Amino acid sequence: MLKDMQDWPLLVSKILEHAELNHSYQEIFSKLPEGGEFRYSMADMAKRARQAAQAFQTLGVKEGDRVGTLAWNTHRHVEIWYAASGMGAVTHTINPRLFPEQLVYIMNHAEDKILCVDVTFVPLVQAIEAELKTVEKFIVMVGKDHMPEGLGDNWISYEEILMAESGEYAWPDLDENTPCGLCYTSGTTGNPKGVQYTHRSNFLHTLIAISGDTLGITAKSVILPVVPMFHANAWGIPYAACATGCKMVLNGPHFEPDVLHDIIIREDVNVTAAVPTVWTGMLQYLKDTGKDMGKLTTVTIGGSAAPRSMIEEFQENYGVRVNHAWGMTEMSPLGSIGSENAAVANLSKKEKLDVQCKQGRTVLGVEMKIVDDEGNSLPRDGKTSGNLLVRGPWVVDTYYRADTRAVDNDGWFDTGDVACIDEYGYMQITDRSKDVIKSGGEWVSSIDLENAAVAHPDVVEAAVIGRYHPKWEERPLLILKMHEGKTVTLEEMHEFLLQHVIKWWLPDGIEFVDELPHTATGKISKKDLRDQFKDYKFP
Ligand code: ADP
Repeated sequence: MLKDMQDWPLLVSKILEHAELNHSYQEIFSKLPEGGEFRYSMADMAKRARQAAQAFQTLGVKEGDRVGTLAWNTHRHVEIWYAASGMGAVTHTINPRLFPEQLVYIMNHAEDKILCVDVTFVPLVQAIEAELKTVEKFIVMVGKDHMPEGLGDNWISYEEILMAESGEYAWPDLDENTPCGLCYTSGTTGNPKGVQYTHRSNFLHTLIAISGDTLGITAKSVILPVVPMFHANAWGIPYAACATGCKMVLNGPHFEPDVLHDIIIREDVNVTAAVPTVWTGMLQYLKDTGKDMGKLTTVTIGGSAAPRSMIEEFQENYGVRVNHAWGMTEMSPLGSIGSENAAVANLSKKEKLDVQCKQGRTVLGVEMKIVDDEGNSLPRDGKTSGNLLVRGPWVVDTYYRADTRAVDNDGWFDTGDVACIDEYGYMQITDRSKDVIKSGGEWVSSIDLENAAVAHPDVVEAAVIGRYHPKWEERPLLILKMHEGKTVTLEEMHEFLLQHVIKWWLPDGIEFVDELPHTATGKISKKDLRDQFKDYKFP
């Protein structure tokens, strides 16, 4: 039958082939877990990805098998991610910050056939090796000279298996709906759940990630994805970089502000992306050292809310624009992003900042609505909050191996976030449904309170949780990590917070901690705080 247009399957191997052919000269820089640094071209990366695919085939990996990775962002991790997906297997990125029991659960549930690990994680994997039911080979992502001593026969060196292959390999033609990647959510309720991405979903997501209003990258950019590849595909950056042909800078195991700063300056990084906690450390480092951000122009912040003070500091003191983004593992992850539209471009500086504190506008390919508890749609007036639902071609339908769909009959996925949407389409998260504080039946936004508190000069980090109150059912408790030697009273904090929030939201109690607990993706763990302050009574 004759067709109007061609069937051209949307495969991630096409992104790699495009990069190899058109951006062959472009650089990829990587810090290495075994120490030192490495630099090569996109063409080199593409060739080694083909060698890796051949090596996996030699090890018996077949279409549909899962190739697990327990690794930081490095050039080798990028090769493996393209290799496994490109050959028709599934790249399963695993978060090494999870507890060992969770790692065991996830790898057994995914039935990983082989596991590629950074050399630094060898002891971690050795400790759980006996419990991993399906893993046949452990591939240590180093050369033979860096292999730890005394490993069993099923532990092999990545560089060694690569060397045995020619790279003469053609990526197979696959159906675009073939599974391509797998990522588990951190499982704040119950066991972690797997989200399996397809070639088509990742390809479409890439087209949006590289559009002008999204990450802000072009062929001339130098991007540093501090966000790890195991955190929702590093927000799509390894695909986006190959698709646009921008230089990619990978920080390996390093999250220390001085190391990040050093590579930002040395490698001329102008675009970067990470969760707020990374930037809290960086801004403190800049303050302490008096350094600037070099050529950096744009930082995408997501994963949890970017506080107003953080956005302001980046923009005012360092000339770096903050792009506030929202998404989820279940959404591949991009949902909305805070680029300026024409309506915002004419606002005053303060009003623009108000807009930037929101989580941004929906990208094409994601439909969004807010509903009340009965499922009725709520107005987009910028004030009314409701449960945030999404659907689209890169939103989860059914969790990996689940028996029932994760969406309603119309395909809407409940994000578990509570949000409002304004007339220009800017969405603002006010809470996660399980973190919502209900005081006398009214919602108090813990995010707004935290953002206001963290702007206090003596506060390093702030969290707000709801605790039982005999009259109001629940009231906010403010938990603070202070700068060394500093303290603040509840009354002083009230006075400070009143500049930003309404009076009846003011916390009824204040507590100080040396450290706030964080989840494996760097968010403040409200669950742990609720446990820690289980028996808390307001004064
Ligand atoms: P995990 O909980 O495993 O880290 P995700 O990264 O997928 O998994 O978490 C998604 C959730 O993170 C969202 O549902 C939302 O609650 C929160 N989140 C992401 N980005 C933002 C943001 N910019 N502001 C506020 N919350 C955010």
